[in-house]
Amino acid sequence: MNSKLKSAIALALLGVSSLSYAQTDVSLIIKNGQVLTMNSQKEVYDNGVVIINEDAIVAVGDESLLKTYTSKNIIDAENGIVMPGMINTHNHLPMIAFRGLGEEGIENRLFAYFFPLEAKKLNRNVIYQATRLGTLDLAQSGVTTYADMYYHVDEMAKATKEIGLRAVLGETVIKFPVVDAKDPFGGIEYAKPFIEQYKNDPLITPALAPHAVYTVSEAKFKEIDLLSAKYDIPVLVHVSEFGNESERIEGNTDKLSPIEWLDSIGVLNDRMVLAHTIHIDDEDIALVKKSGAGIAYNPMANAKGATGIAPAWDMYKLDIPMGLGTDGPMSSNQVDLWRTLSYAANMQRLKHNDRTIMIPEQVIELATIGGARALHMDDEIGSLEANKKADVIIVETQSANMRPSYDPYATLVYQANPSNVVTTIVNGDLVMQDRVMKNVDTDDIHQAIDKIESDIAAFAKELAKEAIKSPSLMK
Ligand SMILES: [Zn+2]
Repeated sequence: MNSKLKSAIALALLGVSSLSYAQTDVSLIIKNGQVLTMNSQKEVYDNGVVIINEDAIVAVGDESLLKTYTSKNIIDAENGIVMPGMINTHNHLPMIAFRGLGEEGIENRLFAYFFPLEAKKLNRNVIYQATRLGTLDLAQSGVTTYADMYYHVDEMAKATKEIGLRAVLGETVIKFPVVDAKDPFGGIEYAKPFIEQYKNDPLITPALAPHAVYTVSEAKFKEIDLLSAKYDIPVLVHVSEFGNESERIEGNTDKLSPIEWLDSIGVLNDRMVLAHTIHIDDEDIALVKKSGAGIAYNPMANAKGATGIAPAWDMYKLDIPMGLGTDGPMSSNQVDLWRTLSYAANMQRLKHNDRTIMIPEQVIELATIGGARALHMDDEIGSLEANKKADVIIVETQSANMRPSYDPYATLVYQANPSNVVTTIVNGDLVMQDRVMKNVDTDDIHQAIDKIESDIAAFAKELAKEAIKSPSLMK
């Protein structure tokens, strides 16, 4: 070898080695975690590292990544579980102001209790303050994205952005006057400026929320569909939660099922997110599969409300986009997903009399990437992969209830509770670190809720006495 070539090789080697020592500076690194990527191979890194820069994930892998990247902000996960933030695909979060009410065994709970309570006690301030409490509860329990159907969604967006969570906020459209709309179906008009304001927001995805097939007319469903197509935004709707919905659809002379009816009027498509879908058959499931619509499976609320068990396992096997939801805080009394995780599996096992189905890995899939697919947001969130938004949580595994932890998925589904979540990151921002909230004053939130609680309590108690006499409309 001539000396020129030798020195060229030496220079090249020097170049390579100097490159390998030039570390790239990033905004945040998480190390020493058991990283559940929830990518398509469900890769797990036992001594894993997540590299985050600004709002996005740059790389996920083993500790060798620490040779390539450096940061002023390095979080030691202390062998805890590092996973994508959980996604609650169905909620009515401000109803947290009413959590724990109407538990006297009221049969006609929706029409004789929820709706009159909302008519009397809801206003802008209650919705804003309740969303502050609700998002605090979500952030502290590792939910980084929630999808919601409610009123005054602009107040909800404000509170959600203050704490720093991600949300899909659907303005409710319903056939009677409500807190933010005097006219029937006034939610459509209310939604228009909201959609304009938030259509490019990094955290808030505006949406439309026709309440259900028995409270929204065909004409209004079509109007909502056109508006959602114009802005390419989701449509959140309750479908087949109750067994008699088909009879209650106006003008449904052919006795179509709710899903057949939505399909027949041309609005069942891949912008829709269907909550509940309990009373559906194989033909309905085939229509959902063909449409590309997502499913919000709410096993704990459905059990508590005795509405039935959705055919979630059948839909899972068909690879229908499906996530988990809690439904509103009066329906399952939790806004986090921890208890819902075990219900998701256990209700399917009971339904099918089969203890081999819906294993913990599949449940965590529903709570993360499944929810992202159901909301049509899987390009951005739901897994820990390069180029996705940095929505990450750390769950400690040192508390007694978390030991031992042989199988992280089983630990999460059957052992963990909200207080095991130590750190919550959304869009690259630390929302909670070591159980300390970074963006909000929690005392202030609790004081506001104290006032609301004392204003509502007496009325709610009286209302329950009347509501309990009301016959069922929904069976
Ligand atoms: Zn609901």
